[in-house]
Amino acid sequence: MPANPIAPTVDYEADGVQHGFLRLPWSRNESAWGNLMIPITVIRNGEGPTALLTGASHGDEYEGPVALMDLARTLQPGQVSGRVIIIPFLNYPAFRAGSRLSPIDGANMNRIVPGRPDGTVSYKIADYLQQSLLPLADIVLDFHSGGKTLDFVPFAAAHALPDAAQAARCHAARDAFGAPYSVTMLEIDAVGMFDTACEEMGKVFVTTELGGAGTATARSVGIARRGLRNLLVHAGIVAGEVDRKPTQWLDMPSVDCFSFAEDEGLYEAMVDLGDPIKKGEVIARVHATTRTGQPPQDIRAKLSGVLAARHFPGLIRPGDCASVVAVLVD
Ligand code: ZN
Repeated sequence: MPANPIAPTVDYEADGVQHGFLRLPWSRNESAWGNLMIPITVIRNGEGPTALLTGASHGDEYEGPVALMDLARTLQPGQVSGRVIIIPFLNYPAFRAGSRLSPIDGANMNRIVPGRPDGTVSYKIADYLQQSLLPLADIVLDFHSGGKTLDFVPFAAAHALPDAAQAARCHAARDAFGAPYSVTMLEIDAVGMFDTACEEMGKVFVTTELGGAGTATARSVGIARRGLRNLLVHAGIVAGEVDRKPTQWLDMPSVDCFSFAEDEGLYEAMVDLGDPIKKGEVIARVHATTRTGQPPQDIRAKLSGVLAARHFPGLIRPGDCASVVAVLVD
């Protein structure tokens, strides 16, 4: 494999604050010897753990970018023991386009890790993440939300992992984040996820789903800011106390949590996010749009819990994720 072409303009070993770029050569019609300049901040103060903090892996998810831009602007080296690496817009072309996937190569940044150094732009970013950034990190926080097509109750999440000690470290960090909901998350397709790469490298990994609908709210950004600080305190990088607030633990025990549309049509929510739902009850209905007089198709809960996520746009298509039900944990 060739070397990754990304050249950082920051020095990861230097003390102080550096605002710079991951410079990725990107030759194109508009700029023959041009580069993609991905913003990055490194804040280091002596020895200590390293936190790698990323947002906009999907370009239409906004709580992470807002909270990370704030942190990059305000965190001082004197407040840090160790190192904080902040990349507010990991899939920068997607973020600039306001789209989930990269407009350059159509890639989903959270399905192509570990990437390739000789791949397209997104694959090169993923390879740099895997080969150069992840090995520096002790703890990783990767912000997500629902984007334009999903909406979530605000939660921090960790996965069920085969290594019980590592799972305990991840779950403790998730709980320290302190979102209103704390989820032990099941993925429908974990191959190529940044999450999986972090966990396989033995890192403490926390992700989030803090809202969605292609925007961020004052409330959801507040959760992101507070969680970010809590995580850095928990990691021993920033001094202080974790700001503990009540959280509702949720589990996703099986693929029965997910419902996928089998018909296209007009989506009618029958319950709202955070509402309780019992197995067999109707979560949503899909109305025909081609003729009147047709009964709607019911989407029913396959287990009891609360509505943790829902399809957001008013129209739904076959295969779309209609809803996610998560199970209450005491
Ligand atoms: Zn996402």
